[in-house]
Amino acid sequence: LIEVRNLKKAFGTNIVLKDINETVEKGQVICVVGPSGSGKSTFLRCLNVLEEPTEGQVLFDGKDLIHLNEEELNGLRQRMGMVFQSFNLFPNMSVLDNVKLAPLRVKKVGEEKATEDAKKLLKQVGLEDKAEQYPESLSGGQMQRVAIARALAMDPEVMLFDEPTSALDPEMVGEVLKVMRDLADSGMTMVVVTHEMGFAKEVADQIWFMDDGYIQEKGKPQDFFTAPKTERARAFLSKML
Ligand code: ATP
Ligand code: MG
Repeated sequence: LIEVRNLKKAFGTNIVLKDINETVEKGQVICVVGPSGSGKSTFLRCLNVLEEPTEGQVLFDGKDLIHLNEEELNGLRQRMGMVFQSFNLFPNMSVLDNVKLAPLRVKKVGEEKATEDAKKLLKQVGLEDKAEQYPESLSGGQMQRVAIARALAMDPEVMLFDEPTSALDPEMVGEVLKVMRDLADSGMTMVVVTHEMGFAKEVADQIWFMDDGYIQEKGKPQDFFTAPKTERARAFLSKML
């Protein structure tokens, strides 16, 4: 579904991604792990060209995203949902309106259908009773679940998550991970940057370990966590676990 070829990204003289060649298959759940500053967020942002690669290609469904015009790019971006560490909900709108907004405005879905779909999604993330509340009255975990529902409202083919639980109080991490786990079980293609090693171990089809601008190591969670092949991965895991 997503193919990255010879991806390089530099910010001035700081070469963050050096040469990345990877494929995300439909239905796969990839967890990207690695030290702080290793380029995980930059990599994720290159996948939907929020960050323009310095060199290389990003193919989504066979189409190279790099040379598209703005309109084509927006069309393809709608097929990729993204959830960040900060929830970025619209504070002046109810939870329901937050979820409905993009389908109404961008997809031109009718009011009734948008409401019906949004309610279903809120139910899916366990928040059907919060539809009429405003974001400020929600906990961080609830806000993040709304953010996930909002991304799902565009009916994306892949979901990109950048440390969705790292800004949350510990007691709220579980409820968000559960929503993500259910989503993975439903067959959604997902690329998840995370420090939650338990989640990665249980839910990922593949772990990609990023360090020093490269995917240094990738493999099944049981292999990566029990018998990492590289010294870098061993050092990383010994700090994390
Ligand atoms: P963390 O685990 O802390 O989130 P990360 O692996 O996501 O780290 P990135 O945020 O991708 O790392 O950053 C990798 C490097 O790229 C860092 O050295 C950072 O300073 C640099 N960088 C990221 N975004 C920009 C930008 N917009 N302009 C300049 N440098 C940037
Ligand atoms: Mg990051």
